[in-house]
Amino acid sequence: MSLIEAIRADGAKLLQEGEVKMVLGYRSRYDRRLPLLITQADQVSALVYDDDCWQNLPTYLRKGEVRSAMPVAIVCRPEGIRSLLVLASEAQIAADAVRVLAIVGNEYRGVLDLAAAAALIKDLPPAPVAPDVAAKLDELAAMPANDRAAFWRDALAPCTRCYACRASCPVCYCQNCVVERNTPQIVSTTAAPHGNFAWNIVRAFHQAGRCTLCGACQAACPQNLPLMLLNAWIERQVREEFAFVSGSGLNEPPFIGSWSPNDDDKFIR
Ligand code: SF4
Ligand code: SF4
Repeated sequence: MSLIEAIRADGAKLLQEGEVKMVLGYRSRYDRRLPLLITQADQVSALVYDDDCWQNLPTYLRKGEVRSAMPVAIVCRPEGIRSLLVLASEAQIAADAVRVLAIVGNEYRGVLDLAAAAALIKDLPPAPVAPDVAAKLDELAAMPANDRAAFWRDALAPCTRCYACRASCPVCYCQNCVVERNTPQIVSTTAAPHGNFAWNIVRAFHQAGRCTLCGACQAACPQNLPLMLLNAWIERQVREEFAFVSGSGLNEPPFIGSWSPNDDDKFIR
C-alpha cells in the first residue's frame, strides 16, 4: 500500500468509527496543494501527499470550523508534530483532541496520539535548514553587529505588510496582534523600511523557542523575503545558548516564560 493509500484508509477508518470528526490533509488543485478538511469517510479519495505540500496544517486548528469538530486527525511531518507540541504546551489545543497521521521522510508512521507522536520525533534533529541558509548564518555571525543590523534592514525593507507569513504560521495565533495595536501604536503599520524592520523582528522574536522551521512563512511570502534565514538565526541562538529545541516534548514548559539564573545572556550583546 502506498503512503497516500494508507493515509486515506486510516482517515476513513477514524471517521467511520467516530474516533475523530474531521481529517485535515492536503488536496490537489491544478499544480498546487491546498489544505483539505474532510468530515465524511467517502471523501478521503481527495487526499494527496507529495513534496509540494508545504503548508503546516496545525495552522488550521485555530479555525472555527475545525475547533468545533474536535477531535481531528491531522497529517503532519515532524515539524508539524513539533508545532502541535508547542500549541499543547501553550494550552492552545488539548492533547487528546488530535490524532496525528504521521509522516517521517517518505514513510507513513500510522495514527498516533500526541504522546506517541512526541516519542516518534524525540530523537530526530531539528528540521534542517537549506545549505545556503546555513552558510549565510555563519557569515552573519562573523559580521560586526552594526553590519548585521544593516543587512537585516536592507533584507526586510521590501516587505509589503501583507501578513501572509503570520497567517501561515501555526504558532502565530494572537487574536490581537501587536502590529495592529494603535493605542499606543507599537509598530508602524506603513509598508516602509523602518516599520518593516520592526514588524519582522518582532514577529521573529515572538517565535523564539516556538518556531519549528517548517518553512511555511517564507513559502507564503510574496516578496520572497529571507524569513527562514531570520527564523534559523533565532533558532540557532535558542538551541546553542539555552539547549532548547521547539516542540521537543509533551508538557514541556514554554521557552519564553522559563528562565534560569544560570542563563547565559551574551547573545543579546
Ligand atoms: S515562523 Fe515560519 S518556519 Fe517558524 S513555525 Fe512559523 S511558519 Fe513555520
Ligand atoms: S509575507 Fe512577506 S511581504 Fe507579507 S508581511 Fe510577511 S514578510 Fe512582509
